[in-house]
Amino acid sequence: MGSSNDSQVRLIVFGRQGAGKGTQASRLAQNHGIPHISTGDMLREAVREGTDFGKRAKEYMDAGQLLPDDVMLGLVSERLSRPDTSRGWLLDGFPRTAGQAEDLQGLVADGGITLAINLEVPEDVVVDRISSRRVCESCGTIYSVGDPSADSGKCAKCGGTVVQRDDDTEDAVRARLATYNEQTAPLLGWFEAQGLLANVDGVGSPDEVATRVGAAVDERL
Ligand code: ADP
Repeated sequence: MGSSNDSQVRLIVFGRQGAGKGTQASRLAQNHGIPHISTGDMLREAVREGTDFGKRAKEYMDAGQLLPDDVMLGLVSERLSRPDTSRGWLLDGFPRTAGQAEDLQGLVADGGITLAINLEVPEDVVVDRISSRRVCESCGTIYSVGDPSADSGKCAKCGGTVVQRDDDTEDAVRARLATYNEQTAPLLGWFEAQGLLANVDGVGSPDEVATRVGAAVDERL
């Protein structure tokens, strides 16, 4: 994970499915010049590549289930050891269980975490958002039904194909929301107890939410 360095910016973004976590995480990482490490994106890439690992991962993902913690630890620790993390990193989608939070603590023992941001969006709002969510298979840009790229199926950024994620079906979404409430939501208390949590209202336009997120991080830096 690079050398121990107090000036590293290490951010975690939490939020239930559809909270706008991916969108905000990507903007925030860009603003701070650190890599946006999304475990969901990494897994989807492995699925696209059709590796044995990707095939196994797809079974969990399509069922809305989490992959085992030891598998995720291997994936994340390798990613955090790459040179582009020398100035820090932003984690999106990890940690998601108590075991993963402990694993992460072990990985960052040399400097800790700068801030965990919790994007708060009520469950009924996210169910609406997810059912209209579309994503570019090539570059990962997220669109909503009604946006030209979503409706035409062609990404305005890279020309890739815009599709609905296999795990954005209603059943899989319900399973993921239940898992979030059971396994991930309890982690927030742990970050809060250490003074590392910023709760940010995630309802509003992407720009409005980005302003709130940016302010919460700036206050900490
Ligand atoms: P969402 O937050 O909408 O569920 P992600 O893109 O973050 O979507 O993750 C998609 C799927 O990838 C998850 O449902 C899960 O199967 C798997 N996954 C992602 N991150 C993790 C993780 N930290 N631990 C276990 N499984 C994960």
